[in-house]
Amino acid sequence: MYDLIVKRTLSSFGTHSTRETLNVEIEIKKEPFVTKGTRTIEPGWQAYYQPYLFIEEKELPPFKENQKIKIKKINLLSKETQPPKRYTPASIIKELEKRNLGTKSTRAAIIDALYQRNYIIENSLQVTGLGLKTIETLDKYSPEILDEELTKEIEVDLEKIREKKEKPKEVIDRAEKFLTKILTKFKKHEKNIGKNLLGALKETRDKASIVGKCDVCKKGDLRILYSRRFKSYFVACSAYPKCKTTHSLTRGLPKPTDKKCESCGFPLVQIIRQGTRPFNYCINKKCPQKLEWMKKNKDKVEAFKKQNQDQKSQK
Ligand SMILES: [Zn+2]
Ligand SMILES: [Zn+2]
Repeated sequence: MYDLIVKRTLSSFGTHSTRETLNVEIEIKKEPFVTKGTRTIEPGWQAYYQPYLFIEEKELPPFKENQKIKIKKINLLSKETQPPKRYTPASIIKELEKRNLGTKSTRAAIIDALYQRNYIIENSLQVTGLGLKTIETLDKYSPEILDEELTKEIEVDLEKIREKKEKPKEVIDRAEKFLTKILTKFKKHEKNIGKNLLGALKETRDKASIVGKCDVCKKGDLRILYSRRFKSYFVACSAYPKCKTTHSLTRGLPKPTDKKCESCGFPLVQIIRQGTRPFNYCINKKCPQKLEWMKKNKDKVEAFKKQNQDQKSQK
């Protein structure tokens, strides 16, 4: 770690490095083929950053324009194109930057808000039913809100105020005018928008909390709830108060899975806990497999219980 820090520091004082990229288009029987090579000409700062530098050197033979080349060998490869990778929070922030949306201080907060409002889930971003429905509904009733240009315009205008190129009053007057227009339209369709989103909201919330059918009344859904009193998650039947079935969970953040316990058939819940890999947990207190595991790992269980108690008393 120390070595990395030292070399990183030194390299930040280095001179610029120069790299050369060669794009070659080759025409073979009227079919276009392309190849690309990149090499470092002047290493500059790179010289101080070894061995932590990971850039590819791919040198091509020197080519001249309109040069005729001989074909030595032809390899016929069968390959498939890959779909683009899903965005991660980091890569989508970069994309926002590229599109000039938001500012350095707001971009991370924008992504956070999307998670908190249940529009997206997972680290490799996936849109939820609610997220999709929100876009669909806005597109129908108020497409201006979704327009990237609108956001950009506001950012640019704010920048103009900062640079003293325009007076705040002019910008605010202008913004007020078009926002009033958009919001009047939105207000007019408010009921329809609400109706559209309600179903999706419920569905997304259920997906995030329902672990399976109740094992006692067979009617209600078992859902993950949070107890403020005990500061922990637990599973309870949605038919409460008719059915008072509950199951306790182990420490960590629980998430529903569509898997069932091999041993007892109860729903499995994924537990995300700091310091260990996410693992599946059977919600059945009397699960034979779980009891056996606990018997085998008595020391671990005792240590865990003690650690838990210490944490609770600290709180
Ligand atoms: Zn029940
Ligand atoms: Zn089980």
